[in-house]
Amino acid sequence: MNAEILAVGTELLLGTTTNTDARDVSLALSELGINVYWHTVVGDNPARLTECLYRAKNRADLIVTTGGLGPTCDDLTKQTIARAFGRELYFDEAAAETIRGWFGAHGRTITENNMRQAWLPEGSTILPNDNGTAPGCLFETDGVIVAMLPGPPRECRVMLRNYLVPWLRERSGETICSHMVRMYGVGESQMEEQLRDLMDGANPTVAPYAKLGECLVRVTAKASSREECELLMTPMVEEVCRRMGEVVYGIDVDSLEERVLQLLLEKGMTIAAAESCTGGLVGQRITSVPGASQAFKGGVVVYTEEAKGRLLGIEQKFIDRHGVVSAAVARKMAKRVRKLLHADLGVGITGWAGPDGDDVGLVFVALAARGECYVRRLQLGRFDRERIRTVAAHSAFDMARRWLTGLDI
Ligand code: ATP
Ligand code: MG
Repeated sequence: MNAEILAVGTELLLGTTTNTDARDVSLALSELGINVYWHTVVGDNPARLTECLYRAKNRADLIVTTGGLGPTCDDLTKQTIARAFGRELYFDEAAAETIRGWFGAHGRTITENNMRQAWLPEGSTILPNDNGTAPGCLFETDGVIVAMLPGPPRECRVMLRNYLVPWLRERSGETICSHMVRMYGVGESQMEEQLRDLMDGANPTVAPYAKLGECLVRVTAKASSREECELLMTPMVEEVCRRMGEVVYGIDVDSLEERVLQLLLEKGMTIAAAESCTGGLVGQRITSVPGASQAFKGGVVVYTEEAKGRLLGIEQKFIDRHGVVSAAVARKMAKRVRKLLHADLGVGITGWAGPDGDDVGLVFVALAARGECYVRRLQLGRFDRERIRTVAAHSAFDMARRWLTGLDI
């Protein structure tokens, strides 16, 4: 099955809103093994939307639209779709009741145009909206499934997850499962080269993704049960891990920090961080994982030389001798914060995030652990600040997970 995602909304064309709905729908469909071949964006204009619909129904088996389901006059997705597919709109009493119920429960007065949302193309299956009023819907016609989702991302995402994905799953009569192998410390092209031949398989499929500094591989299988899927996937996941080796940091974990936290909890160990150019990012990221309080002691943001002196006791003479962005200062930050907070591991990060200066992108990341202290020198070049900070934090977590699993740092 192949799909086209058709996002409706002038704000998307103007660039004031990012088309995150298309991303969410794509991610969900790829987990179902449905190939998304096209993303289309069109403004709130019935003629151009109709043109897009004709094109989509000639090339896709599944069309998912987002946006334009609301009560206002620029919300014209359902009417336009109904017309393009030769269907009438009908007033769905159950949908109307749900809308009335929503307004009642939220203590809001209902207006006439709210009821417009209860008009759906004939023969539709309703997709309930758990986070708003506009119901979504879908119908099948001439071998094409047309599904309509609302624009607001929190409504779109939840409808997708709770209703459209289960509907598609049930219709296919197959179970689709996947595992995500996550890696850090390998480039996307190198990963592809090492896994190239595995990517030609049909079941399971092996699909690579790259995220800022990270690589991911999704292994997906289709079968009649979860157990059969696992049987198909296990040897493939093992093969990916065997080929990629140490750079694999986890399977089905969400992030490096989640993996680090798991390892710390397993070992009953703790971590603390002293951060300069990352401004608290390491702390922010680890504390966003549930359970962090068991393992993250805390940290300091020591942005200026003065702060490094006052909060960590790093003498000005020492800073002057080595330079504030240096392996020596990173080491000292890691050791001092570890000691101050009685943690097993201490992280120290100092670097130039730019945008100005000759050494932009030069970052030192140190990890202090029981009498040992390791330091990585990163030369990240002229990336933007966000990227430099993100990769520096990634690096700190990667060093910690390597230490915790007994690998070379
Ligand atoms: P509403 O009931 O809020 O009117 P709707 O289904 O009619 O919802 P739109 O009116 O098209 O949807 O968009 C509502 C809001 O949702 C927009 O202001 C925009 O912020 C957001 N939005 C719309 N489409 C997308 C998209 N593809 N990706 C991300 N956000 C979107
Ligand atoms: Mg709207």
